[in-house]
Amino acid sequence: MRSADIRRRFLAHFEANGHVVVPSAPLPFDDPNLLFVNAGMVQFVPYFIGQQAAPWKRATSVQKCIRTQDIEEVGKTTRHGTFFQMNGNFSFGDYFKEQAIQLAWELSTKPVADGGFGLDGDRIWPTVYLDDDEAADIWHRVIGIPPERIVRRDKADNTWDMGIPGPAGTCSELFYDRGREYGPDGGPAVDEDRYLEFWNLVFMAYERGRATGPGKGEYEILGELPNKNIDTGMGLERIAAILQGVDNLYEIDETRPILDRAAELTSTKYGAHSGHTAAESHPDDVRLRVIADHVRTGLMLMGDGVTPSNEGRGYVLRRILRRAVRSMRLLGYGDPALPELLPVARDCMAPSYPELAADFERIAMIGYAEEETFRRTLASGTTIFDTAVSSVKSAGESTLPGEQAFRLHDTYGFPVDLTLEMAAEQGLTVDVEGFRRLMTEQRERAKADAKANKSAHGNSPALRQLRDAGETVFTGYTELHTRSRVRGILADGELVPAARAGQIVEIVLDETPFYAESGGQVADEGTISADGALLRVLDVQKPVKGLIVHRVEVAEGELASGAEADAQVDPEWRRSARQAHSGTHVVHAALREVLGPTALQSGSYNKPGYLRLDFAWGGALSETSKRDIEEVANRALRADLPVSVQYMPLRRAREIGALALFGETYDADEVRVVEIGGAWSRELCGGTHVEHSSQVGALTLIGEASVGAGVRRVEAFVGLEALRYLATERALLNAAADTLKVPAAEVPDRIAALVERLRTVEKELERGRVAAVLARSGELAAQVVDVAGVQLVAVPAPDGIAGNDLRTLASDVRNRLDQGRPAVVVLISDVAGKAHFVASVNPAGQQAGLSAGELVREFAPVLAARGGGKADLAQGAGGDAAKLPAAFAALRDSIASP
Ligand code: ATP
Ligand code: MG
Repeated sequence: MRSADIRRRFLAHFEANGHVVVPSAPLPFDDPNLLFVNAGMVQFVPYFIGQQAAPWKRATSVQKCIRTQDIEEVGKTTRHGTFFQMNGNFSFGDYFKEQAIQLAWELSTKPVADGGFGLDGDRIWPTVYLDDDEAADIWHRVIGIPPERIVRRDKADNTWDMGIPGPAGTCSELFYDRGREYGPDGGPAVDEDRYLEFWNLVFMAYERGRATGPGKGEYEILGELPNKNIDTGMGLERIAAILQGVDNLYEIDETRPILDRAAELTSTKYGAHSGHTAAESHPDDVRLRVIADHVRTGLMLMGDGVTPSNEGRGYVLRRILRRAVRSMRLLGYGDPALPELLPVARDCMAPSYPELAADFERIAMIGYAEEETFRRTLASGTTIFDTAVSSVKSAGESTLPGEQAFRLHDTYGFPVDLTLEMAAEQGLTVDVEGFRRLMTEQRERAKADAKANKSAHGNSPALRQLRDAGETVFTGYTELHTRSRVRGILADGELVPAARAGQIVEIVLDETPFYAESGGQVADEGTISADGALLRVLDVQKPVKGLIVHRVEVAEGELASGAEADAQVDPEWRRSARQAHSGTHVVHAALREVLGPTALQSGSYNKPGYLRLDFAWGGALSETSKRDIEEVANRALRADLPVSVQYMPLRRAREIGALALFGETYDADEVRVVEIGGAWSRELCGGTHVEHSSQVGALTLIGEASVGAGVRRVEAFVGLEALRYLATERALLNAAADTLKVPAAEVPDRIAALVERLRTVEKELERGRVAAVLARSGELAAQVVDVAGVQLVAVPAPDGIAGNDLRTLASDVRNRLDQGRPAVVVLISDVAGKAHFVASVNPAGQQAGLSAGELVREFAPVLAARGGGKADLAQGAGGDAAKLPAAFAALRDSIASP
């Protein structure tokens, strides 16, 4: 029975019994302690606790759920997904225990032909809370379950709450016995994998408060609820696993295709080495399950509007997507994985959630962008990580310092749980305590900085006093030189009467042509002369609305407050600044022309010769898009479009579609609108611009990258800078052409050919190396001795052979021995004083009861090393290579006396 069918039957059963079908709430939930909806009842909490009157007496739903606390269980148990669907029926002060039990029993056991699930009632084991005689009695008397199959369990198992304050109650759960091959007899108290919980009936009767301890059921009880309610949850995936006859919930119709695709991509044979139960799972199979689960969860989260980020819900999504990608890498797949897997997940889920198909382009863009970001992070951080690991190991330590974890996080964007996971793979722990301390310190520094900045600016009484004398008049839209007067001088935030040569102070003029940094445009440079004093302008800011403050260095003479002043903006500087700012508007318009109107600017920065612009976009731009954007922009420059400035009410500006930057504030009544070519580019802007687009000169894009989820950044050079940039590129190309001794146009092909050749040569080298390793196997096989009828080759490996080569060599030696008789090959190599070893046992040996894994476990302690593996092949490392003779002796002993 397919999942979509299970869902339909569930809703139909309860609808037929007077329940109103309510759609699933979206996954994100507004509580910092919960983040996501984790049960069907969450959207009904106000009705349960009596805050609002329930609009219906009975409801039913299939709720999307996420349980972040189950992430670590995924793939290791047979029954936990991060995302799952909870089928539920709810009674708001209507029916209680008896009817809830009857309704659940009926649907579970009703024949498939009659719309039920057709489960064998004799295999269902109900549980009840310790002293809930009423429920036990209903199960026995009304349903007819023999008492020995009704299990009483305590608070930890048979009470239910959301994990945060809210409604709660005792419960009765339905377990299905999947049979002997899944575990020992004895009911749910003995084995929760064989006896699979699929439905929980909560008898919701009281309200819980804050936690009083770490355990489940440890909280204060605030009181009885106004009504006795029913809240049930049947895991759709769990019942699907039962009805589809698969071992676990990663193998049902909604996830198995993802798992299969991942197995295909990684050339892994899923299930080849695992049994039915979770405990018998091969690590590769666990990874495939994690991939299937996480890809689907990622899809559902992005579908509900979550985007990857470094905190809260976005972080959960990021972690899940990255774990899926990393699991693919650990299985040997290095290419982008999500483009292969997400579409499969979409096809699995679309039958129940058609909106995922409709919205897939957006979802995919976010997902693929996140994988790209992660690939870059991995590329830069892994080297740092490896260096850190080897220095820890060579110092004989086993803990990665908190500073390293912090640096990886701070500089390379390595999430700490990735560091933890990678360290664990290397047998190391991480000083998490130290990491957290550094994180806290950094947060506090940032807070202190923000505070210091604030008080230095707007709150200064001196600045307010200057502002009270009137706004600074900005003359810089029309002139670069203005005669003015020094209204005030500030040294360290205090008003002073004068300043001497060599001092750096802040000054306010009555009027100024200097543009203060704003709207992404940098401050003007230039000079101010005042009564014999010469001032160089270092920075210009507007710390208080209406007040322009120049930070100046007194280069010559003495500056006095009240003096006449000549303010002169550097014309060359301003010309370039105008080019850059108009260039920014042109790039914005070109982006929107090429990519569409959703490519909206979210921030920008420009200074003479250079500009950058951040805009909303999910994925990397293709080469074609980049070329098109550059082309559209340069055509607009060449077309010599007029640039015009108008003032108008904000309302009017909105009407004519002027674009306003998010987060910037403009006067409510009158705004400044800058147009280039009329409606082609129309933005609210206070900056300085050229008069005709051709004055921008040339424009060349120099980069495009992600600066966060769904935000891209383009950078460009304009004017002379653009030409200089192109000249440098030409010089580089010529240098490469010179070295390669080919014309410039042939450079790419030539490099490709060289890389290809290098690869071939590397492969040949590798083949040569393997051949050299195997060349030794004849001589090693010749050292075979007979120990109690077993052919044993136990020798030191030739120098320098370890890892993969050691395994290959051991197998080859083994194959040279007589396959009709038991054979054991153990090779130990000495790598910088540490022993690395491999044991291999042929099929005849395994039949005779020998196991490579056990042999290794027995002799590894002699070397003070660790190891393990399977019956045919096992390996290990560590310890002291000098103890080799003792290890060989132990090995002979354990073969001789099995
Ligand atoms: P378990 O003890 O197996 O983790 P639970 O007691 O946490 O389950 P409930 O909170 O009672 O489960 O949730 C109700 C139903 O939702 C369960 O009976 C089960 O069918 C399903 N369920 C719970 N957690 C998961 C999960 N992580 N993945 C899939 N289904 C789940
Ligand atoms: Mg649970």
